[in-house]
Amino acid sequence: MITQNIEFALELLQKNEIVAIPTETVYGLAGNAYSEIAIQKIFEAKKRPTYDPLIVHTYSLENAKDFVTYIPDIFYELAKIFSPGALTFLLPKKKIIPDIVTSNLKTVAVRIPNHALTLSLLQKLDFPLAAPSANPFGYISPTTAQHVENQLGDKIPLILDGGAAEIGVESTIIGEKNGQITIFRYGGISKEDLEAWTGQTIHAQISNSNPTAPGQLESHYAPKKKLYLLKKNQINIQEKEIEIKNIGVFPIDKVGFLGFNEWLVNLPIKNQILLAENGDLKLAAQKLFAAMRELDTKDIEIIITLGVPSQHLGMAINDRLQRASFYKD
Ligand code: AMP
Ligand code: MG
Repeated sequence: MITQNIEFALELLQKNEIVAIPTETVYGLAGNAYSEIAIQKIFEAKKRPTYDPLIVHTYSLENAKDFVTYIPDIFYELAKIFSPGALTFLLPKKKIIPDIVTSNLKTVAVRIPNHALTLSLLQKLDFPLAAPSANPFGYISPTTAQHVENQLGDKIPLILDGGAAEIGVESTIIGEKNGQITIFRYGGISKEDLEAWTGQTIHAQISNSNPTAPGQLESHYAPKKKLYLLKKNQINIQEKEIEIKNIGVFPIDKVGFLGFNEWLVNLPIKNQILLAENGDLKLAAQKLFAAMRELDTKDIEIIITLGVPSQHLGMAINDRLQRASFYKD
């Protein structure tokens, strides 16, 4: 059920039921982070493997002291600028967070979401909310309540509708060691912004295959149709066919194109979606997952994309496209 009834959401969460919640990044599937029963329900509804840990949401970094043993000064400084927001902090956990939340890791990922409805929910509860994205494991993350309803509607009692997600890609995950910040997943707060505010050169440590390292499984965020992240010279468009180097030849009307700000000339316009005609990476991030969903419903065989410029939010967008891409070099 899609609703804006926050009281009902509170009641369900207090009974260790799970509820889909809006955030500015993507919709989350939330449950009491202190309750193994609630957490189990999240993993089951998503069919998420238990080796992929969850992010825990609360209403202020200070409040995370309830369930973490230590918060470095630089995180407090960053929180002043970026929290609430699309920045997730890795912190050493207290026992009160069940091991299943963190896949047995000693750190817990903590975020303060920048969404009025969800912040007021968090303020009214006396426990934080563990919430991964509200989609079946491996599929595209939801950026509207309807996306959640389409895929998990029969598995969860309530979807709290807070409108379309403003940022549209997941949070940036950071860790700290001796005052130095490392990015473990690119997301809604850019590396450039973090560098500007910390004065540090920040390195990223993005993992593909080891899910105990923060971040990432290689195949993720994927549509059902095969998507290929390509270089321009891999695409050869003829009158009726399109040849993709090392992949195959397809009838031109069976190919969909996910573009940044330029159409793919000769490909039928009906099969193309541009993320941001004006070249704005923020707009592109906002539209990314909905555009992938839309292409997934079209009468086409494959989806191709050239990605976006690798800077600012483009890093997060290209990361998601890479993980959604079927093609492995
Ligand atoms: P999702 O909420 O679906 O965007 O997924 C959360 C992501 O955060 C996962 O890909 C995890 O690998 C990562 N994550 C969550 N908790 C931790 C942790 N304690 N250490 C490292 N990464 C984490
Ligand atoms: Mg996810």
